[in-house]
Amino acid sequence: MKSAYDVVVVGGGNAALCAALSARERGASVLVAESAPRDFRGGNSRHTRNLRCMHDQPTPYLLETYREDEFFDDLRRVSGAGIDEPLARRAIRESATCGAWMGVRGVRFQASLRGTLHLGRTNLFFLGGGKALLNAYYARAEHLGVDVAYDAEVVGLDIEAGACRSLQVRVGGAVTTVAASAVVVASGGFEANLDWLREVWGDAVDGFVIRGTPYNTGTVLRMLLDAGVEPVGDPAACHAVAVDARAPKLDGGIVTRLDCIPLGIVVNKKGQRFGDEGEDLWPKRYAEWGSLVARQPDQTAFVVIDAKVAGAFMPSVYPPIVAGSVAELAQQLQLPVETLQATVAAFNAAVQPGRVNHAELDDCRTAGLTPEKSHWAQRIDAPPYCAYPLRPGITFTYLGVRVDVQARVVMGNGQVAPNLFAAGEVMAGNILRRGYLAGFGMTIGTVFGRIAGRGAAAHARG
Ligand SMILES: Cc1cc2nc3c(=O)[nH]c(=O)nc-3n(C[C@H](O)[C@H](O)[C@H](O)COP(=O)(O)OP(=O)(O)OC[C@H]3O[C@@H](n4cnc5c(N)ncnc54)[C@H](O)[C@@H]3O)c2cc1C
Repeated sequence: MKSAYDVVVVGGGNAALCAALSARERGASVLVAESAPRDFRGGNSRHTRNLRCMHDQPTPYLLETYREDEFFDDLRRVSGAGIDEPLARRAIRESATCGAWMGVRGVRFQASLRGTLHLGRTNLFFLGGGKALLNAYYARAEHLGVDVAYDAEVVGLDIEAGACRSLQVRVGGAVTTVAASAVVVASGGFEANLDWLREVWGDAVDGFVIRGTPYNTGTVLRMLLDAGVEPVGDPAACHAVAVDARAPKLDGGIVTRLDCIPLGIVVNKKGQRFGDEGEDLWPKRYAEWGSLVARQPDQTAFVVIDAKVAGAFMPSVYPPIVAGSVAELAQQLQLPVETLQATVAAFNAAVQPGRVNHAELDDCRTAGLTPEKSHWAQRIDAPPYCAYPLRPGITFTYLGVRVDVQARVVMGNGQVAPNLFAAGEVMAGNILRRGYLAGFGMTIGTVFGRIAGRGAAAHARG
């Protein structure tokens, strides 16, 4: 780490590396300050599998077409009103060029697999996942002469009149000041900061699982907000899915997610159902189940399926709990036996005749239940019976900083910071206020990482 750079990039995930490569390719000297050690570099990006891309014709890895208007409609449907439309449209249009840009920098792709939420038309899948993508970017960064500091947490930003001239970086207990002509903040959300989450969720946080990196503590986000940068997004909102309750508290990644909820029923600790497991196609509903489970006693629930649906979903990394009868299953799960039996019996009695089709909103539903199951309702009557324990798994938080279309940070008084840029999750709230579009996190990071890197280099080099 030298004492001064044209561009300092805060963070070491996808948005950071896209910014670092873009700035370096324009001739800037670049430092990447990554708070994780080398083996754990890459933030939440290393857990990813794909990014969402618009395309006007099929490609070797993307089926059919996915045009700007359809992409924008999908975004508006999940995110509701209040998003920054010019910024959103820029993300969508520039997503069309991401695949080629990534390919030149060593990323390889693969066709989407079965059980990956039917995303083969809209999402480009990385061969080897996010870890391979980041390895390719880091290799290229090192090859181009980007300095990468690991175990390097940014603990201070010197912001005056909207400009950031230097940063304090803590490496191995010592804090060093590094001067920068331009700064790109790509430090993710604050989802790994349990104290900050507790401000919103209270003690329920003790039952949460954080799916990604422990290093996304929101330190830099907090510093920016304290320095007067305009916040965007709901401070209380986070993306949460149902994960296997046996997952580690932090960093369990994608393999702990459970996608069999639409194929069975979900009960809480009392053995009672509490949500419509078949309300909509799973890609549109999976992100609701984290907060549904979070509202149950002890933030605990169980998904129950039978032999009919075995093999029809991407399994968790943990084995299911298996039993020959519903009563035996209840005992193993430590649920009230009679209540679970009654819940299953009531569900079975309410299932209407229909033809099951997991690929569409089929006509298999219940009638007369509270809550109903609207699609894919099949009797749970074929042993062995299986269950997975569930907990809320927090993916990321939505609170971020406002930016303009050039990814420059906007201060609370409307002034644009000339040399301070933000990319990735830390500014995603400008275009994603709630809900989620699978793959859009990596799109935002790639598009605005590139924009921020180019802008930072241009600012630094005049
Ligand atoms: C399990 C899982 C699966 C996912 N799958 C997908 C998917 O397939 N497609 C998709 O689009 N999205 C997916 N997401 C969401 C996706 O991970 C994020 O949208 C995306 O990675 C954000 O990229 P980023 O570069 O902004 O942040 P990150 O990749 O999280 O990087 C943030 C970086 O900042 C560093 N950092 C934090 N604070 C500091 C500090 N003070 N000083 C220095 N460094 C700091 C961290 O160490 C980290 O390197 C997934 C998330 C998870 C958890």
